[in-house]
Amino acid sequence: LTLFEKIIARQIPADIVYEDDHTIAFRDIHPQAPTHVLIVPRQVIPRLDLATEADVEVLGRCMLAVGIVAKQLGLSGYRVVINNGEDAGQTVFHLHLHLLGGRRLTWPPG
Ligand code: 5GP
Repeated sequence: LTLFEKIIARQIPADIVYEDDHTIAFRDIHPQAPTHVLIVPRQVIPRLDLATEADVEVLGRCMLAVGIVAKQLGLSGYRVVINNGEDAGQTVFHLHLHLLGGRRLTWPPG
């Protein structure tokens, strides 16, 4: 199982802030902003560039979950990041969206 599947299965604890049939969202253990939540599809796609037509609904559900979680947590401005592959800093090969907010975010990111 991926680390995030273990969180989904409650084998590893996490601070879960939102769940629906397709996604789960929990706080990142090493937050990079006052609010740093990971939005994770229950279905494993190892990284974005391995997504296919069959994953279109799941991908869309992840995007919708961002808005739901941001509203729930009272974020106005926020950033959504997907790290694809090791060169982008991906460390967990179970697709996830980083939702970052609660402070002024600079551009470009590092
Ligand atoms: P990536 O680098 O793959 O885009 O993001 C993986 C994220 O998972 C990192 O931001 C890292 O801090 C977070 N993470 C790693 N292990 C755990 C864990 O056990 N629990 C939680 N909540 N987050 C984790």
